[in-house]
Parts: sequence; C-alpha cells; structure tokens
Amino acid sequence: MFNHNKRLQYTVRVGESNPGLANLMLEQFGGPQGELAAAMRYFTQALAEEDPGRKDMLLDIATEELSHLEVIGSIIAMLNRGAKGRLAETIDQHAEMYRALQGAGNDSHVTQVLFGGGPALINSAGVPWHAGYVDTIGEPTADLRSNIAAEARAKIVYERLINVTEDPGVRDALTFLMTREIAHQKSFEKALYSMDKSFPPGKLPGDPRFTDVYVNTSLGEGDRTGPWREGKGFTEVLVPGEDTIPVNGGDGHADVGLSTDEQAAVDAFAERGASDPTRDPVTGADLGTLQQEAAR
Ligand code: MN
Ligand code: MN
Repeated sequence: MFNHNKRLQYTVRVGESNPGLANLMLEQFGGPQGELAAAMRYFTQALAEEDPGRKDMLLDIATEELSHLEVIGSIIAMLNRGAKGRLAETIDQHAEMYRALQGAGNDSHVTQVLFGGGPALINSAGVPWHAGYVDTIGEPTADLRSNIAAEARAKIVYERLINVTEDPGVRDALTFLMTREIAHQKSFEKALYSMDKSFPPGKLPGDPRFTDVYVNTSLGEGDRTGPWREGKGFTEVLVPGEDTIPVNGGDGHADVGLSTDEQAAVDAFAERGASDPTRDPVTGADLGTLQQEAAR
C-alpha cells in the first residue's frame, strides 16, 4: 500500500508568479520525460519483476518519482498561484489580464482558463499524457537499458529548464530533481551489470556469422572508422556488393511456399493488375497540356 507524507521530498521556494514558466515546467509533469511517465514505468515493471532486489529498487524509485511529481506539480501550482487569484477574482482589466496570463508568450493563458492554474496532465505544448510514453517490454536486460536512457533524457530536460529561469528557488528545486535522475541512472546501470548475463538481451544467442560484423553501407567521402566498427568484439567490416550480398548466399530474393489455390489466386491478381510497357496512353495531364497550347 502507499502512504502519503505531508512534507515534500524537497522544500519548494518559488520567488514570484510566472505563468509562462509554469507552462514550461509542465514538460516534467505530464510530458514523455516527466515524473508521471517515470513513476508509471518503474511501478509497472516492479509488479512483474521476478528478482527480489530489482523489484525492491523499482518500487523505491517509482515511489520517489511520484514524490518528484509532487515537487514539480507544486512548483507549477506556485508559479500559477498569483495569476489564478487574479483571474478568479477579476482584479485586472480584461485586456491587462490577458496580457499577464500570456506570460512568456506560450500557451499559459490556455492552462489558466482550462485548468485554473493547477498542474494538468499535459506536456508544455498541451499534449495529454499517455501510456505510450512507457516502452516496457518485460525483459530486464532491455527494460533496464531503456530506464537508463529515460533517466538520461529526464536529466537533460531538467538541465534545459534550469537554463530558462533565473528564479533561485526554482533553480534550486530543479537542480535537486535533476540530481536524483543522475542517481537513478547509476542504480539502473549497476542493476544491469550486476546480472549474470546482461548481453545480448534475452536467451537466444545471435548467429555467430553476423554478431561481430560491422556493415559499412555509407560509402564514399566521409567514411570514418572507430571502435564502433573495428574495436574489441568486431572482427569484420563488410562492404555490401555483388560478391558479399546476400550474406547467407542464395539468389537474394524472397520466396514463400503457397498452396495451389493460393498460387492461382495470386497469379490472377497479378494478371489483373499487369502493366503494358508498350502502351503510351493519353492522360488527363496530356489533355490539360494540349488545351493550354491550343489557347496560346
Ligand atoms: Mn524524478
Ligand atoms: Mn528518475
């Protein structure tokens, strides 16, 4: 079960009202790299996790992400608080109100009118949060890698948000949230490499003929080398050509075994749609061109 502690994980001290900035902060509330997406990602992974250590870690981090959702949501509510009061109590002239709510020139006026200044489950562009932000596949070696990347992306979005505000209190709280994503990335990396077998993902080994091959398909000027193609673990650089493709031999065409009925139907279908390369029929484009020439 969940318990709620009435204190935030980190004290939030916002300097002044700023509805435009509040709207940018929505990115980490209801956006793809935001705290709700992170919490749902780790919570759902934890429920199906078989390893007791990883399960405990995922529940710890999922619950902390919900606590971050509370912190970023509180920042948004504080940044919107003044504008909410002004709008609710109509203390400004209408035009003045509209100007004030537009803040930094983004859609903050929409957020105020539609959501009353509260943190809505949308990103900074107004896109509603959705479960498609969570890409869990149910295999720890794949999910941990995705979690590592998710933490890296969250860290970068926080960094960008820190760079758009001078409010020291907001910067301080965002720096805390950004820092925790670094710590989470470290935990997921440790969890990944503490598995007996983390690469390749899953159980089936790759075909040894192709696992250590780099395929150099972008040829010509600009061709470069590096450890990603000639480092440890790579034994061959293959350049696609007449003598190297298909890599498994054969005629390089796709084939399927069809029943007699299926073959007859496919043949009839192909015949019905066959083109005649010897015909050069008059088309609408030709008629239009003729018409134009006649008019000249
Ligand atoms: Mn977080
Ligand atoms: Mn995190």
